[in-house]
Amino acid sequence: MGFFDWLTGGKKSTPNPQPVQRRPINTIDLSGNPICASETCAQHVFKPEHTHCYTHWKIGETQRKEHARKMGRTVSSSRKRNYNRLISSSSTLLGKSIESCDEQTVLDCLTTKMGIHPGHAAAFTSSAAARGVIGWDPPIDKEGLENEGHEWTDFKGVRWYRSVSQPGPWTRHG
Ligand SMILES: [Zn+2]
Repeated sequence: MGFFDWLTGGKKSTPNPQPVQRRPINTIDLSGNPICASETCAQHVFKPEHTHCYTHWKIGETQRKEHARKMGRTVSSSRKRNYNRLISSSSTLLGKSIESCDEQTVLDCLTTKMGIHPGHAAAFTSSAAARGVIGWDPPIDKEGLENEGHEWTDFKGVRWYRSVSQPGPWTRHG
């Protein structure tokens, strides 16, 4: 009796289905997997491709998110929604995607066609978060590869970098 039987018109389920038997997680033999990369940890990782055990992965994730928040490298979904609304209405007025337009063209559209205050329009087009959503710059919540205090990423065939420890936008390299 498969879970999707109802989709294919299969047999009706039995009145008292047997509970699913789950093997307790600690009886799975993980000894063939690598050891967690955390210095003091001797746990085998859950999957061969993992670098850390679940606990240490989780700790790393939490630290990573906290760091991104401190660096101002997060964009809330409501902010993204607002950007996308503005991008979509200006793209309609521009007759092409805002991403393919230069900044000045977009600024003109925002101020003259949409009646947006020039200060607000400039705040939008110069915001690293907005530029990432537009597609002009790499997304600010994109993670780069760390090398000697900088994060590096490839975006539109160009290398970009930013400091790991100081807030700031992605900068085009060369
Ligand atoms: Zn661990």
